[in-house]
Amino acid sequence: MGKVLIIGAGGVATVAAHKLAQNADVFTDIMIASRTKSKCDAIAADLKARYGVTVATAQVDADNVPELVKLLKKFQPKLVMNLALPYQDLHIMDACLEAGCNYLDTANYEPLDKAKYEYSWQWAYHDRFKEAGLMAILGCGFDPGCTNVYTAYAAKHHFDEIHELDIVDCNAGDHHKAFATNFNPEINIREITQKGRYYLDGKWIETKPLEIHQPITYPEIGPRESYLMYHEELESLVKNFPTLRRARFWMTFGQEYLTHLRVIQNIGMASIEPIDYNGQKIVPIQFLKAVLPAPEELGSDYTGWTSIGCRIKGMKDGKAKTYYIYNNCSHEAAYKETGTQAVSYTTGVPAMTGAYLFMTGKWNKPGVVNLEELDPDPFMKKVAESGLPWNEIINGDLEV
Ligand code: NDP
Repeated sequence: MGKVLIIGAGGVATVAAHKLAQNADVFTDIMIASRTKSKCDAIAADLKARYGVTVATAQVDADNVPELVKLLKKFQPKLVMNLALPYQDLHIMDACLEAGCNYLDTANYEPLDKAKYEYSWQWAYHDRFKEAGLMAILGCGFDPGCTNVYTAYAAKHHFDEIHELDIVDCNAGDHHKAFATNFNPEINIREITQKGRYYLDGKWIETKPLEIHQPITYPEIGPRESYLMYHEELESLVKNFPTLRRARFWMTFGQEYLTHLRVIQNIGMASIEPIDYNGQKIVPIQFLKAVLPAPEELGSDYTGWTSIGCRIKGMKDGKAKTYYIYNNCSHEAAYKETGTQAVSYTTGVPAMTGAYLFMTGKWNKPGVVNLEELDPDPFMKKVAESGLPWNEIINGDLEV
């Protein structure tokens, strides 16, 4: 019941746009605005052909706050979905405050010149959003996103106290390319090459990049080597669930991927420091992005599944309990429905779900919020109906 503006026109934005169009009774006016307008137009044409829904498009540089404010004041969306890149988060939040719009994103702010992930910059906007009676919904993808809601759902329905959380993220798909990243290559490589970090007994323990690894068994997939990494939702989850003693994040990588990554790092192509090339400043990782396959082009040949979930240990009625909640998503099915692979799909569907709950008034909490601070139940229902059903294993063996 209202207007919504998507910023960005990549893989995640494409999926979210499909899902908004599938819920056109709630999202009555949709606009897609991005740096490259032709990409917005291509999405709009596809939505018209598939669903008969008309979507407006616009060109905008989201880092140019006055330009963005002008667009927001003209279109007057109730909600702005930031599906561009983490670098734009603060600029889009500034523009939303100035134009009186609510805000949603899928990744926390990162400064362009420093690969640093923390919520402090965005949490600092809390009072301003609250005083304006506006809501900023942070991290509404899969991880962060569904993983935050899964944890909140477990805490609400399955435990008196949660003690240990392992977020496990497996991509058992094959895109048949020698090397490609499943979402924006620059953001992806910056994230993976960082030092690892996990939470134990009130402290953050730092590791070398991808130093700790072990096989983890994923449902219907089997054991896959999984690497401990830092991931942003750990920061908000340990804050909002103070009974957590340990919180970790694991992601699978194949040997071929890791070999390419090592070479890319060794030859300096993962660097975010600008270099001079023929009188021009070039950031190696940005150049690398330009030559790698675009994530939205991987879909047509992608086979297999993703499996992402939360493995939780804690106490219920005085007894130890384990709980594993997860979603398995097929790359082929995601491509058939939206023309993109499962990594974009598993991010775009929760983004629409959060937007849907906001637009229908089921989620309404002025201020800057992470998903676990909101009622998980309506999200769990809507996200399952929208293409990401979840499964649970109660008191299974979480050591495998
Ligand atoms: P893409 O690189 O495919 O798309 C990003 C889009 O943003 C592009 O269309 C790009 O424009 C546009 N853009 C970039 N800068 C600007 C700007 N200054 N002004 C306007 N538009 C801009 O990324 P993805 O779709 O893969 O990812 C989108 C977001 O989702 C990222 O923040 C990513 O970190 C996040 N993500 C979150 C996940 C989760 O589970 N929570 C998982 C995967 C991704 P152009 O086309 O011109 O380059």
